[in-house]
Amino acid sequence: MRPKYKRVILKLSGEALAGNKGFGLDEETLDSIAMQIKEIIALGVEVSIVVGGGNFWRGRSGKGMDRTTADYMGMLATVINGLALQDALESMEILTRVQTAIEMRQIAEPYIRRRAVRHLEKGRVVIFAAGTGNPYFSTDTTAALRAAEIEAEVILLAKKVDGVYDSDPHINPNAKKFETLTYIDVLNKGLGVMDSTATSLCMDNNIPIIVFGLDEPQNIYRVITGENIGTIVRE
Ligand code: UDP
Repeated sequence: MRPKYKRVILKLSGEALAGNKGFGLDEETLDSIAMQIKEIIALGVEVSIVVGGGNFWRGRSGKGMDRTTADYMGMLATVINGLALQDALESMEILTRVQTAIEMRQIAEPYIRRRAVRHLEKGRVVIFAAGTGNPYFSTDTTAALRAAEIEAEVILLAKKVDGVYDSDPHINPNAKKFETLTYIDVLNKGLGVMDSTATSLCMDNNIPIIVFGLDEPQNIYRVITGENIGTIVRE
């Protein structure tokens, strides 16, 4: 099978790593994700991953807390997830490097764009952790930024739901799933695909986003080989 994309960014929310537990890390889920990544590496796809941190902490969780401090805590949470994912990938003999946007050299490499690209060219998975390194941003924005920087063709946005709906499918049984959307639709309709900063960055740099559910094993493979599952957001 030929992959449709050569270089991709896979965005995994923290929640996606928690499995059914809803909090923290679920090792079975990590292994299942690692297995799916192994399948697409075998197709020759260059895979980089941006991890979220919401399974531990989000900046906005800290109600009375200084926002910047709370955001740094969120960025640290993404590093925990990045290391867990690296461990799961390496246990399957997939060479993996973690790069952090905030230096912590004993734990991971600092983010260096050229180095990240070189790793990808050598077939290593690169995990981008610690977000953009700046408070007031999200890991969705990190995915958009890194995709632009390393010239990824697409962002694969793995979610708990299998695409973008006009209303919450858990609440409204008649919710309609979109097959395609434009960036402007997402912004105007306030659809919860990505935050507006991330969506605008994708729009300005013409980076398509494919939103799909991670619950079905094989879904990453299906998206990579061009099957139309989920919702695609583009111009
Ligand atoms: N964060 C940040 N700057 C960034 C990326 C993340 O401050 O560039 C913080 C922010 O507090 C965020 C938290 O890290 O809430 C975890 O990231 P996110 O909420 O995007 O994780 P996800 O929802 O994908 O699990």
